[in-house]
Amino acid sequence: MSRVQQVGCSFCREFNAASEESRFYNLFHGEIKRRFLWETENFVVVPGIGHLQKGYVLIRSKDHYQSIAFLPLNLTQELAALRLDVITNIETIFGGNIICFEHGAVAPDLRGAACTEHLHLHILPCPSLRPTLREAVNLRPVEDLSSLGEYVARREPYILYGERTELFSFESQYLPKQFMRRRVAAALGRPGDWDWREGVNERGQATEPEIIETVKLIEQHKKKS
Ligand SMILES: [Zn+2]
Ligand SMILES: [Zn+2]
Repeated sequence: MSRVQQVGCSFCREFNAASEESRFYNLFHGEIKRRFLWETENFVVVPGIGHLQKGYVLIRSKDHYQSIAFLPLNLTQELAALRLDVITNIETIFGGNIICFEHGAVAPDLRGAACTEHLHLHILPCPSLRPTLREAVNLRPVEDLSSLGEYVARREPYILYGERTELFSFESQYLPKQFMRRRVAAALGRPGDWDWREGVNERGQATEPEIIETVKLIEQHKKKS
């Protein structure tokens, strides 16, 4: 199947690269033979760089979309199901409360606290951020991921935050870059570690041993089940 790609997008290049050119493969010094932890028709799951916590993963779309707000309806349904599956797996393998978030970009010039511009949903074990977010921003319940399309219509960047059963969104135009990673890093007691770029060396390799641990534990779990 031919895929919608964006020239200059590092993830699109990654997704279509031969394995030896794969940034993901090289990130892990060739230790991980498979490039994705889980895969569905339109999405893949990869470990999160700037590994704030064991069990930190990202869901990414195979086609180039800037954020969930741009997905067609059938893909929001596929993503909603995958989100629950990944949360269940991460909870089973790593334990604790599982949260997810997206820095939702709506246009190249309106990135809204985004960290990269190819759709990615962060999922990881972390204490609930709801109480502190509620104090800082206006949380709006999200019944269905397809409703995020409203932000595109309004050209308003957003942040999606959720736990297993509930999802919320809020406007992010005036929030700092990697806003949610800053919040998560603080909640995990490592406030200095919010910038994911710190987790990669000058050759683009992941420097964090915890990432390998995360991948190994997930692969072991998959063999058992
Ligand atoms: Zn892309
Ligand atoms: Zn992000």
